[in-house]
Amino acid sequence: MLVDSHCHLDRLDLAQHGGSLDAALDAARQRGVGHFLCIGVSAENAADVKALAERYADVDCSVGIHPLDLKPGEAPALDWLLDELNHPRVVAIGETGLDYHYEPEAAELQQASFRLHLQAARQTGKPVIVHTRAPAPTP
Ligand SMILES: [Zn+2]
Repeated sequence: MLVDSHCHLDRLDLAQHGGSLDAALDAARQRGVGHFLCIGVSAENAADVKALAERYADVDCSVGIHPLDLKPGEAPALDWLLDELNHPRVVAIGETGLDYHYEPEAAELQQASFRLHLQAARQTGKPVIVHTRAPAPTP
């Protein structure tokens, strides 16, 4: 069995599947994918990924804030993250991490957010999904 350990089912371009997520998932299942981990990237899409996990028995999800989805000056709240992680189908934390490619000035905020996700992992024992990219080249 194959596991798609990192998919964004709420952001798929479904045009090639007749606009149907069911059809897209079936196409993957027919090719041997037996389980999907749908990755959260923001507070806004947490409800969406949880709804997908509730709708499909072979989909679980993660919740977290992608480093490029952070709002300027605003690290996520630990209480919010811990509350999201209470959901039985939220099996992992993230994606989180560091990515200075587009917004090197957001480094401090990204680091604070990454630390907070790691703190939630320590408290819950859930694994962390890390997005990482090399720093932007210096001019
Ligand atoms: Zn991703």
